[in-house]
Amino acid sequence: MPELPEVETLRRALLPLIVNKTCTALKFYRKDIRFPIPQTTLRKQFENQIVSQIQRNGKYLLLKVPKGAMLWHLGMSGRVALQTSMNPREKHTHAIFQFGPEIFLHFIDPRRFGCILWVPENGKHPLLDKMGPDPFAPESNATALKNRAKKCRSPIKTFIMDARRIAGIGNIYACESLYLAGINPKRKAGRITLTEWDRLISCIRSTLKDSISAGGTTLRDFFDPNGSAGYYAVKLSVYGKEGKPCAKCKTPISRLIHSGRSTFFCVACQKK
Ligand SMILES: [Zn+2]
Repeated sequence: MPELPEVETLRRALLPLIVNKTCTALKFYRKDIRFPIPQTTLRKQFENQIVSQIQRNGKYLLLKVPKGAMLWHLGMSGRVALQTSMNPREKHTHAIFQFGPEIFLHFIDPRRFGCILWVPENGKHPLLDKMGPDPFAPESNATALKNRAKKCRSPIKTFIMDARRIAGIGNIYACESLYLAGINPKRKAGRITLTEWDRLISCIRSTLKDSISAGGTTLRDFFDPNGSAGYYAVKLSVYGKEGKPCAKCKTPISRLIHSGRSTFFCVACQKK
């Protein structure tokens, strides 16, 4: 599943390809993915417009043009492939965008949890309005997070994975960050102290940053020769390491299942 670092890597890979370029053609192969694709609006507002920048908020990408932005989310299995023509090369190609004479971006999503939407100039969109700040945004600081978690009785892991509280932290990064911060994933979010929040947000950022730098920032790093996006294996400390010795204390890593998701942690290092 594409996580925040992959989305950021995709953003960086796309910058030199489409910023300051005009979308000269778009083609859709479905009426909807997760949600209906606003084809008429995109043809009217996005086609023949110059992309001024690409922003990321959590796992959403915003391809900005003067009258608004095209919003992308890769869902569970989405990716963007760089191809050489408007002809779909894969079965699950749902949309193709041409920029300038030779850039063809194919939006591929077998499981169809992704989306292609339109956000008007004022930046308002129900999906974005409900979202908490990006982990790298200044709003994601210890004081603000502690306030947001006040009286929250759910486990800290559930809290940081809730996109309405803080955007874009998936299961892998939640496990890794809590391990790095030495915080038990079952602790009640409302009981996390300011010092712990401070440590946790810096661990969240450093975990994401490490993964972003592992993904590289150039076109060659990101798209393989077939035009596929590279979802790279990140260096993980606890995720998927059940029974393996903890790197800090050698205690075997534990796994517990909570609301259908696996949580990996070290009982010794994450006692509190
Ligand atoms: Zn340990």
